[in-house]
Amino acid sequence: MDISDMIHVVIQLDPPTQRNGQSPMRIKRRELFRQSASSITAGGFLHLVSDHLQANPLGNTPPAFRFVHLTDMHVQPELGAVEGFKQCIAAVNKLSPKPDFVITGGDLIMDALAVDKPRLNLQWQLFDDSIKTIEMPVFHTIGNHDVTGWSKQQHISSGDPAYGKAIFSDRYGQGQTYRSFDHRGWHFILLDSIGQAPNSPDYIGWIDDRQKDWLKNDLATTGTLKPIVIVTHIPFLSTWNQVVDSPQKTLAGSSLIGNGFELRKILEPYRVKLILSGHGHVRERIDVNHITHIQSGAVSGMWWKGPVFGDAEAFGLVTCHADSFDYRYETFGWKARKV
Ligand SMILES: [Zn+2]
Repeated sequence: MDISDMIHVVIQLDPPTQRNGQSPMRIKRRELFRQSASSITAGGFLHLVSDHLQANPLGNTPPAFRFVHLTDMHVQPELGAVEGFKQCIAAVNKLSPKPDFVITGGDLIMDALAVDKPRLNLQWQLFDDSIKTIEMPVFHTIGNHDVTGWSKQQHISSGDPAYGKAIFSDRYGQGQTYRSFDHRGWHFILLDSIGQAPNSPDYIGWIDDRQKDWLKNDLATTGTLKPIVIVTHIPFLSTWNQVVDSPQKTLAGSSLIGNGFELRKILEPYRVKLILSGHGHVRERIDVNHITHIQSGAVSGMWWKGPVFGDAEAFGLVTCHADSFDYRYETFGWKARKV
């Protein structure tokens, strides 16, 4: 076998580049080619990685990367939540090898739905103070508790500039509540799963029509070959209510994405590998229809009151290989304080 047959070629753009509703697609792929060096024509995006020739002489094990999924932090002044979140971040910063980035899964603060302005501002300030200690890029997903005033118990109404998703969008979503980006051959989609209930100020799990159109376009541009990770706060699927209540339990509109069936049909032609969620604060894994759905428990456990059904406060650590992933549930040693 000629040595040129074993050359590894990595097509890669770092750091992760972002797409949103207005941005054109960018093509970034990391692939392994078993071909002669003379046929490499992709210009500036190609870098020959000569050290891989020694690390992977058979040319069949592309280098993996890792990312962290932090969800349901529910940052608040009480119960040592800030200290707990910083302890979690310190554990993330110490991971070796270092993850390439962090994705948050929503419910960044304890609650924006039914609080007054001073309480709202205080929680966001505490979240900002904590999140800035992360030593890697962070991409945020919106949760229901990050939406201001969408509740019958609202203290902040629709005339206020902080109402709704404005704070999340402006500060944490780069002007959007949903977006996508590519990283080392994988495509990441962060959904906004928080819909407004009809004829009510409350939220429901829902992907609205505008986002659905954006998603269809985003997927079409991504194509059917690239592996995809979707992050959503509210899950597409969950067995938890059936486990703790009854198999006949009818779920509330706020528990799951109500139009998930329609979304399933949109996603089906594509290479969706993993859908990460939060919201239920439980550990759960469902493998169905070639997609793995994982709820990553909660950084806050039971809202900083202790473990949830025996599972400690934790985060998800995902390793992405060429066309597969591994998932680990990582605790960070937090002990809940007495209420
Ligand atoms: Zn939630």
